[in-house]
Amino acid sequence: MNDPILLTPGPLTTSRATKEAMLRDWGSWDAAFNDLTASVCSDLIDIVHGGETHVCVPLQGSGTFAVEAAIGTLVPKNSKVLVPHNGAYCERIVRILGTLGREAVILPFGEDQPVDPALIDEALAHDPAISHVAQVHCETSTGILNPLPEIAYVVARQGRRLIVDAMSSFGAIPIDLRTMPVDALIAASGKCLEGVPGMGFVIAQRRVLESAAGQCHSLAMDLHDQWIYMEKTGQWRFTPPTHVVAALRRAIDQYQAEGGQLARLARYSENCATLVSGMRKLGLRTFLDDTVQAPIIITFYAPAHVAYNFTEFYRRVRERGFILYPGKLTTADTFRVGCIGAIGAAEMQRAVEAIAVTLYELGVIRHPVAA
Ligand SMILES: *Cc1c(COP(=O)(O)O)cnc(C)c1O
Repeated sequence: MNDPILLTPGPLTTSRATKEAMLRDWGSWDAAFNDLTASVCSDLIDIVHGGETHVCVPLQGSGTFAVEAAIGTLVPKNSKVLVPHNGAYCERIVRILGTLGREAVILPFGEDQPVDPALIDEALAHDPAISHVAQVHCETSTGILNPLPEIAYVVARQGRRLIVDAMSSFGAIPIDLRTMPVDALIAASGKCLEGVPGMGFVIAQRRVLESAAGQCHSLAMDLHDQWIYMEKTGQWRFTPPTHVVAALRRAIDQYQAEGGQLARLARYSENCATLVSGMRKLGLRTFLDDTVQAPIIITFYAPAHVAYNFTEFYRRVRERGFILYPGKLTTADTFRVGCIGAIGAAEMQRAVEAIAVTLYELGVIRHPVAA
């Protein structure tokens, strides 16, 4: 197989076993498929230790559908929501709130700065009308990790509710719902769990979800309705993404066999270290300081050289078997390289070599290997 390796934060490179899990058709009424859904949901809750307090509601669609569904279902109309903001996925939450008619209060940070829990504390103390905080855990637009345990602590101490977009961290970065007060965690099939895209899920506090009946603006996005129906029938309300669920089941089997969250984090950390040290040897600089970088996706400054152009760089690296990701910053010319997916340090090393040869060909660097 000569498919290029995806160094992108979803869709990403999946294992052969995960792809093969999609070679069967499943009936949505069939007990075997319902069992598959139930086992996936149960394992997803276990990954974040939420079994005592939380339930898992899967939803058809990409991750954003699940974020919108969680906000629409769990945040009452006319609520005021604080959004600590350091990137494009925080901005997406602001847009969702606007679309759904919930007031957003933006607490701005630089794109290279993690959100500061002390400033959240201050903002909440200053405005008692804010009922919720909506926080992105790993801001995938840069790769920065926001300090979730400290944020959860501060929000709970102020007596407010917390909703977390954990899309690009779930499964790799530790999250422990036994010690972290969180109303809802949102993630999806096609990121650190290494499934294929097509299913989002919300791990919601049972009590909070129970009290959300009739609150959603939308029929299809109503997580309470989806949950109740699934509790009653074991089935999805509308046509389930059967192959996506089967692939996710297989991907979670491999996740567990590999050693769960700790092993996944260790592999991604090694991927990240291999990538960053190789790229630095080529003279490329990371946008973020190492201390705030999550080992999920790395933003690099574009080489400051007239011969560099992302489109041509991308095309040539792709010919060598690797798909890169454009930058998402307005302030600096950058590109991104993902560390997640069914890949290891050997693939990252080969990616660095492909990038080195390409930059040499373009005339951006003078030696095709690290100095
Ligand atoms: C991937 C991602 C999403 C969801 O994006 P989709 O394009 O809808 O899959 C949301 N938040 C974060 C932080 C993400 O990384």
